[in-house]
Amino acid sequence: MSGSRRGWLVRAALVLAALGTLGCGGGGPTTQADCPIHASVHVNLVNEVPSGGLGATDRCRGDGSTYCTVESDLPDAVLRRVIAHELGHAWGLAHVYDGTGCVMDQNILPGFDSLCPLEVQHLSAASLGRLPLDVFPGPGLFDATAEAATLWNQSVGRVVFVVR
Ligand SMILES: [Zn+2]
Repeated sequence: MSGSRRGWLVRAALVLAALGTLGCGGGGPTTQADCPIHASVHVNLVNEVPSGGLGATDRCRGDGSTYCTVESDLPDAVLRRVIAHELGHAWGLAHVYDGTGCVMDQNILPGFDSLCPLEVQHLSAASLGRLPLDVFPGPGLFDATAEAATLWNQSVGRVVFVVR
């Protein structure tokens, strides 16, 4: 096993072990209930999410866009999971299912990589009759963002996110 691969595995294990919560904190929907759903969603890496978690979503800047931030250097599977979670917030979804590992659960469980029926229903309802959201991934995030968007699109059964 190469050093970099071993380093990745160690980091992945540490990240997964440390994941008490996704820690959306101030970026969670409970503080954004009155902010609109925007047609444009920007996803960018940051060295440190201000709330202390792995990701955050801000729909309240007032400039017509939603901003998702994701901590840099996450293992691919965790990165995709965090982006899928933040995209759910972009449609106004709240946290659900404490402890089950569903995507809109703040807890991340190792190996979980699908959506739970209720959150699919929530997003389907939130997006009914509306155009898909345009998602603009920042540098290095296209593949993970596309995978996260596909997870939602396939589960909902129509295109709710278009990655640009
Ligand atoms: Zn969240």
